[in-house]
Amino acid sequence: MKAEIISIGTELLMGEIVDTNAAFVASQLPSLGIDLHYVHQVGDNMERLLETFQRGLSRSDVLLCSGGLGPTEDDLTRETIAKLMGEKMAVVPELERELRSFFVNRGIEMPSNNLKQAMLIPSAQTLPNPMGTAPGWWAERNGKIVVAMPGPPREIRHMWETQVKPRLRQRAGGAVLVSRVLKITGISEGAVDVMCGEHLRGTNPTIGVYAKPDGIHVRLAAKATDDASARLLIAPVETYLRGQFCDHLWGTDEESLAAGVGRLLTERHLTLAAMESCTGGLFSNTVTDVAGASQYFKGGLVTYTTEAKARYGVDPQVLERHGAVSEQTAAAMARAAREQLGASVGVGITGVAGPSEQEGRPVGTVHIAVDHPKAQRAYTGKYSGSRLDVKQRVTTAALFHLRRLLVEMGE
Ligand code: AMP
Ligand code: MG
Repeated sequence: MKAEIISIGTELLMGEIVDTNAAFVASQLPSLGIDLHYVHQVGDNMERLLETFQRGLSRSDVLLCSGGLGPTEDDLTRETIAKLMGEKMAVVPELERELRSFFVNRGIEMPSNNLKQAMLIPSAQTLPNPMGTAPGWWAERNGKIVVAMPGPPREIRHMWETQVKPRLRQRAGGAVLVSRVLKITGISEGAVDVMCGEHLRGTNPTIGVYAKPDGIHVRLAAKATDDASARLLIAPVETYLRGQFCDHLWGTDEESLAAGVGRLLTERHLTLAAMESCTGGLFSNTVTDVAGASQYFKGGLVTYTTEAKARYGVDPQVLERHGAVSEQTAAAMARAAREQLGASVGVGITGVAGPSEQEGRPVGTVHIAVDHPKAQRAYTGKYSGSRLDVKQRVTTAALFHLRRLLVEMGE
């Protein structure tokens, strides 16, 4: 089954919003065995919309559209599909009742132009939208399908999961593409390539190696008639690669670095505390993005000034002798965090986020330390980019350093 995605709305062409709906729908198609051939972005213009629909239907089996289902004049998806099919739209009394009760429940009067959201053509069925006022449309003609879904991301996601995906799964029935991502750190992209060996030239699964901000991602993608068969093709290659990457492998698929570190802490019955300066709490924030972090994360202190560092247990002599931005201070912060919060491992982060230098240290200089009673490490790095870029990169680096210490301690 061949598909095209059509994202509708002038705000997309103005660069005001990013087309996350297309990325979402595209990510869903491989596992349904649907081949995506084109992604279009079209403004709120009936002529161009109609032309895109006609061209799409002439070569593909299904058009997956989002946007343009609102109550306003500029939202034209329904009208265009009606024209495409040569049919007239009419109000469906049942839909009108539902729409009116939606407004009654919210205690507001329904504007008259909302009525078009209760309209349908004979070739289409509605797709309920409990998240909003605009039902979707599933229209069919000569075995070809046009699906119109609402623009707001949470509405389209819900409609996709509950309505569209199950129907498409029934209709598609082609080969499915399943992928598995192995995430690694501490090995260069070239070395990863060598480790993959002859599997790199394999055709099922295929292997892709990508450099990302959180390390190297290796994607194994297999095609088969169903999910289970595809996973069977991936399994032996995954086992081989796991043996090659060993402790450099920190996570799979959607797992984040923070979740991988959390898993290690849990396995080793260790707890964590942090004292951070230039990251302003982002390290602690990232650690607590993981569900269940309360099992191992004791807390974080944001000690932005030198005085605050001293108040929460950093030796004033260290601060005076080496300065607030130094490896020694980072180490003292990691230790103070561990002691003050009663954790088994402490992380300390101090640096110059910019825009101007501090204590003669250039912008982007950052020191990260990890402290455990039996092992201490301190690192110095130079990071570039905006303040937020630096905060994010430093947070990733701190998680990597923490992970490395945990792995070494486990050996
Ligand atoms: P519409 O149904 O065209 O009125 O769209 C309603 C809202 O949904 C827009 O104002 C956007 O905030 C959002 N939206 C529409 N299309 C997209 C898209 N392709 N990706 C992400 N958000 C979108
Ligand atoms: Mg719109």
